Amino acid sequence: MFKFEDVKLVQLPEKVLREKSHDVPIPLTQEDDELIQKMIYHVDDSQEPLTKFRPAVGVAAVQYGILKNIFYIMIQDEKGEYIFKDALINPVMLGHSDHKISLSEGEGCLSVNENDPGQEGYVFRYSRVVVKAYSYYEKKWKTYDVSGYPAIVMQHEYDHLQGKLFIDHIDKKNPWEMKKNSSTI
Ligand SMILES: [Zn+2]
Repeated sequence: MFKFEDVKLVQLPEKVLREKSHDVPIPLTQEDDELIQKMIYHVDDSQEPLTKFRPAVGVAAVQYGILKNIFYIMIQDEKGEYIFKDALINPVMLGHSDHKISLSEGEGCLSVNENDPGQEGYVFRYSRVVVKAYSYYEKKWKTYDVSGYPAIVMQHEYDHLQGKLFIDHIDKKNPWEMKKNSSTI
């Protein structure tokens, strides 16, 4: 079992967040398995009413300062039914739509302090992505085809593995300007 104190997030300006992560061996080592269990504990607990964590729908290993190609996403609906729940290991983006979408209120990230400037604005991402990865729960390679909100979260986490952050996508001059072939959700 994990505790609140076991989760140590890194935030900007920590440079590790700008580095590329690396593939891990499959089958997973015990160390990597425990890392994923901690990610699951962290994100799942963060959506509980009495959590001490900042609410999150996903986390990437690099956000703990660990440069491994692993992220975990858990999205549930109002009834608590899972819309998406899996840890993706060694993910590869296979394809994406032309059309882009942004959350109408923009994005946030556990690795960017809520008080930092420059976080306001649309973050346009592909409305649909196809990603191949090794599934933590199914213990096999899977192709994930996701659209809408799960696609946004998937790209946010995938970006972390490339050393990118959501703020990189914000148009600094016109943060709330609508772009061609794009819409908000
Ligand atoms: Zn993030």
